[in-house]
Amino acid sequence: MRTLLKNGRILDPSQNLDVIGHVLIEDDQIVAVGQVADLDDLDETYDCTGLWITPGLVDPHVHLREPGATHKETIITGTQAAAAGGYTTICCMPNTNPPLDSPALVDFILDRAASPEAGGVFVAPVGALTRGMRGEELADLAAMKRAGIVAASDEEFPVQNSRVMMRAMEFCLQLDLPIMVHCEDTALSDNGSMNEGAVSAMLGLKGIPRSAEEIAIVRNGLLALHTGCQIHIMRVSTWGAVEMVRQLKFLGAPVTCEICPMHFSLTEDAIGEFDTSFKTTPPLRTQLDIDLLLQGINDGTIDCIASDHSPHASHEVDVPFEEAPFGTAQLESTVGVTLTYLTHRGILTPLQTIDKLSTRPAQILRLDAGTLRPGDTPVAQITVIDPELEWTFDRKQTFSKSKNTPFHGHRFRGKSVLTFCGGEIYRDARFDTARYAIA
Ligand SMILES: [Zn+2]
Repeated sequence: MRTLLKNGRILDPSQNLDVIGHVLIEDDQIVAVGQVADLDDLDETYDCTGLWITPGLVDPHVHLREPGATHKETIITGTQAAAAGGYTTICCMPNTNPPLDSPALVDFILDRAASPEAGGVFVAPVGALTRGMRGEELADLAAMKRAGIVAASDEEFPVQNSRVMMRAMEFCLQLDLPIMVHCEDTALSDNGSMNEGAVSAMLGLKGIPRSAEEIAIVRNGLLALHTGCQIHIMRVSTWGAVEMVRQLKFLGAPVTCEICPMHFSLTEDAIGEFDTSFKTTPPLRTQLDIDLLLQGINDGTIDCIASDHSPHASHEVDVPFEEAPFGTAQLESTVGVTLTYLTHRGILTPLQTIDKLSTRPAQILRLDAGTLRPGDTPVAQITVIDPELEWTFDRKQTFSKSKNTPFHGHRFRGKSVLTFCGGEIYRDARFDTARYAIA
């Protein structure tokens, strides 16, 4: 089986490549990129004129909800949503029920993800850092690493005790295992539900001060500096957070960070009449925060973009704002938000955009992904993006089981239209993808 992606703009940050050319796939492997000498005996050809051909996108931060909350999402529906969103590799978070804190559960996730219905998307599990994510004793990290976790994290239940965190970093350094940290001082956030400020006062909602995030970034960053353990800071949201990360990097701390689409595209004003589709952690902030976060994205302080896909069922979010869970479904809108708010506004070049959505997260978590170089990924992982396609995001057409999105009805410019995961090809049936196939 020989498949040709013809005449596309090939964007591969791993090789600093931005050229017009072809990509040839034989069976499930990339065999040539750029100039392709032998164009005979093709089984399928896709005309990629005007489109980007990029390494399969990599999402470092996804909640698949299985085991324990399969009414929100399953490994199968989550990986289908990922393929529809342009992703070929996703990292799944450990705050399942039970929490992902044993090698047996790692095996379970990898088995489910390898089933044929999962569409070939690679799932890289992130194990719990502490047993039961209780922030006390370390989980069985060595055995989980042997089973296949790529990082450890207590996600929404971040370790509060600095001594426990220091020990965790010392141990993970020995294991050569990165820690992903949600930075929140829970004594300061204290069950608040939105950004603390004028809007929270007006709505009568309890606020979460920005210092809850920034103090935790400084603590975790200094512990990383002093222990040498690699940490990845999840979803930064304030101008202070990006400035702290900049300083930590300046000091030489082994720190990277990510941002989620909501935090560079929406402010706290979007909450309007207590709309729970805009409830996220850390909370939506202000325009000043967005302005300085964009600067951090542009200058590379913010390393990558993560969806933080957090599906919840309708009955769970159709409740008073304070009672609703944090987080929204994002896998199928992230490319649209990123191209619309960052690329088309000149914050990122096309090559930088793909770096933030694919190559950089793969490097941070040391995944065999994020490149088009033949042989560097186990199978061909390729995403084709139409950067000019204008479309309206409609939650009724998503593959995710959950429909809790802040972007329903939003117009976007730019969409992934084809996703290749080894032998599997995902075509977006909602668009006229037939126009891309010419044989
Ligand atoms: Zn999350």
